[in-house]
Amino acid sequence: MSSAVESKENISRNFIENIIDNDIEQGHCKQVVTRFPPEPNGYLHIGHAKSIILNSGLAKKYKGVFHLRFDDTNPMKEKTEFVSSILDDVRWICGDIDNDQVYYASEYFDTMYECALKLIKKGKAYVCDLSAEEIRQYRGTLKEPGKCSPYRERSVKENLDLFERMRAGEFEDGSKVLRAKIDMASPNINMRDPIIYRVARKSHHNTGDKWCIYPMYDFAHPIEDAVEGVSHSICTLEFEDHRPLYDWVVRELEFENPPKQIEFAKLYLTNVVTGKRYIKKLVEDGIVDGWDDPRLVTIAALRRRGFTPESIMRFMELSGVSKANSSSDYAMLEYCIREDLKLKRPRMMAVLNPIKLVITNYPENEIEYLDVSNNQENDEMGMRKVPFGKELYIERDDFMIEPPRKYYRLYPGNEVRLMNAYFVKCTDYVLDSDGNVTEVHCTYDPETKSGSGFTGRKVKGTIHWVCAETAETAQVRLYENIVDEEKGVYNEDGTVNVNPNSLTVLENCYIEPALAEANPQDSFQFVRHGYFCVDSKDTDEDNIVFNRIVSLKSSYQPK
Ligand code: ATP
Ligand code: MG
Repeated sequence: MSSAVESKENISRNFIENIIDNDIEQGHCKQVVTRFPPEPNGYLHIGHAKSIILNSGLAKKYKGVFHLRFDDTNPMKEKTEFVSSILDDVRWICGDIDNDQVYYASEYFDTMYECALKLIKKGKAYVCDLSAEEIRQYRGTLKEPGKCSPYRERSVKENLDLFERMRAGEFEDGSKVLRAKIDMASPNINMRDPIIYRVARKSHHNTGDKWCIYPMYDFAHPIEDAVEGVSHSICTLEFEDHRPLYDWVVRELEFENPPKQIEFAKLYLTNVVTGKRYIKKLVEDGIVDGWDDPRLVTIAALRRRGFTPESIMRFMELSGVSKANSSSDYAMLEYCIREDLKLKRPRMMAVLNPIKLVITNYPENEIEYLDVSNNQENDEMGMRKVPFGKELYIERDDFMIEPPRKYYRLYPGNEVRLMNAYFVKCTDYVLDSDGNVTEVHCTYDPETKSGSGFTGRKVKGTIHWVCAETAETAQVRLYENIVDEEKGVYNEDGTVNVNPNSLTVLENCYIEPALAEANPQDSFQFVRHGYFCVDSKDTDEDNIVFNRIVSLKSSYQPK
């Protein structure tokens, strides 16, 4: 990273930090408390990672507290399956989260009910019998004010009685709602007597059948924040128009030190499917192999593919926090993972599309062990022994019978370096009956051993290889964007434009023996091919599967 970027980051603060600084200075905030409030109705994706990193990062920076709060107040869509995946994902991004940092909004149902009673008693809420459709019609439009409900002037006593009976289960689903009594003429439609409670006979994954009335998001959320002592409730821009209602709720309920809502722009990735809805559709249609398919940008998928929390944090730093919607480039995320792994991971040899190379003048049945640096840019990673012998595998496209101009790899008569080993010169090749090359024959020059200080002559090409006798096989999966970028992300009917080449499976790749010892989630550089991670789902005792995280070539240049 260039020092210009580093130093700029050190001095500039994002607009949220400016607000918090000011609140602290003015004495409005004793302790910074932030939260990440996912609804457990799907897996988290990279957009959520932005919110997690922003909120947990602010708590850390201001020596405050970060809460993970499950916003599980809607029994219609939520599942416990998602609670555990979200816990895993947040823990992975943030390092550990203590149990006392984990909250469930459904544990506040009693408090929310009390809050509703308080509003009724203050004359600030009423039970309304209009149907959903009538409520919509009465609400008015951006140009026209709304019309008051005929039930708006019910007495406190009647409202208390009806609301208690709503809770007792006396009324059908949808037949009555509790509404905040605010202003039917407000230019902000959210303030036109919004619904705050509805009747819904639905079992809840946490509270079972205890409740048949459930609070609406705009009422529940500020209460959740206030109850937990959240100081800054950071959400995305679409909630900007809801802020007056948020403020109304905490004011009318007379919370001390009420939380402050601040909105920022969502993270969007150019040409990448991020919306939960679309990811869900790809999963349900069987186009991908579950929520953690490495082509997706769910956090589970990024982890399985081999991204690191550090790379995702760096990506969020580079994309910044702002009030204006914009889109970040996936290539920048790739840049971040390459930078993160560059000095941390060993550089190993793997041949993905093999062809045999025979060194005709190398002794039969001899295996020698060459000393190879694990990472040429980081000596601390030490050395390893790599077996070398008479028969090797090289990449099929590192040999050509008739090479084009500027092709410096193997062709009849040409000499190249075998990486970490010797110079070899191509003397012959073998064809099968279809004219395909099945073997390349070479001679080697023992004088040219890597590390021997040989300076006699130079070669232009260096290729990698794996010793045939000791090689292990592996399956390697290469990925492209799941979306066909030429056609755009979505079709007119809202479906995703799937790229038919998004997954390439290479069977029978050859890897050096040390790689066969790797454990799920271990990652490596395969020289000349990129960074790869052992798949945690499909690797078993007999088969090892590698996912390509990213290739070595970059289309992104940091500014
Ligand atoms: P999606 O829009 O993908 O369906 P969501 O907003 O419905 O996601 P929630 O579980 O409600 O998902 O979101 C939890 C938190 O994550 C919210 O505070 C939300 O603002 C934030 N969040 C969701 N998507 C993004 C995004 N793309 N960038 C930043 N924050 C996001
Ligand atoms: Mg949502």
